[in-house]
Amino acid sequence: MAELKEVESFLQQLLQPQTFQDYGPNGLQVEGGRPVRRVVSGVTASLAFIDAAVAAGADTLFVHHGLFWRGQDGRLTGWLKERVKRLLVDDISLFAYHLPLDAHPEFGNNARFGRQLGLVADARFGEQGLGFIGAAAAHASLAALADAAASALQRTPTVLPGDGRPLRRVAWCTGGAQGYFEAAIAAGADVFITGEISEPQAHLARETGVAFVACGHHATERYGAPAVAAHLATQFGLVHQFIDVENPA
Ligand SMILES: [Zn+2]
Repeated sequence: MAELKEVESFLQQLLQPQTFQDYGPNGLQVEGGRPVRRVVSGVTASLAFIDAAVAAGADTLFVHHGLFWRGQDGRLTGWLKERVKRLLVDDISLFAYHLPLDAHPEFGNNARFGRQLGLVADARFGEQGLGFIGAAAAHASLAALADAAASALQRTPTVLPGDGRPLRRVAWCTGGAQGYFEAAIAAGADVFITGEISEPQAHLARETGVAFVACGHHATERYGAPAVAAHLATQFGLVHQFIDVENPA
């Protein structure tokens, strides 16, 4: 068991949110009143996730996508009211870490997603150093890399083949990082892997010859939250469970 304040300072120390410019508040987003015994981690604090965590007996939630984002108007109405109400009724705490969770070199989404594919970064690129890049390792061809991604994630990726060059350098950034494609090219990537694809990336892949692989936003961001929550649980002797609410996007 741990006090909420102890858990909060441990996570702040680990993830260093003050060093990022983010789209929403990182850290404790909803303060519950219970000591921390049972932590449930997940990708997004959706209503389905919160309900599943409540059913699993959670007193504390740890997610990548929290409740509050820049651009919201601040009202607790509709779907947001429902999510917050579920937490307050059971006095449950919610921690959310966005970019700090993507970036963490050991427990973060990028580090852990890379590990799924056998990739280890030897450099960073792009805004706030969120992009990871390293040797292609076992993946000498794009087909081998796409196969490895499909079997690791249980999901068929969208592949834009580029000019068919052999792979030496692989760059990746989990989630909706399609806007990092040009930075990945500038950093020397032969292929860039992320979660989502938008219209411009198809043209960029054709015109620069660098391949682009979209593996799913949710699918690529399933690894950081449970890694941090498991580490937290080990430190404080807590129970931890990861709950994956399926998302095709
Ligand atoms: Zn995301």
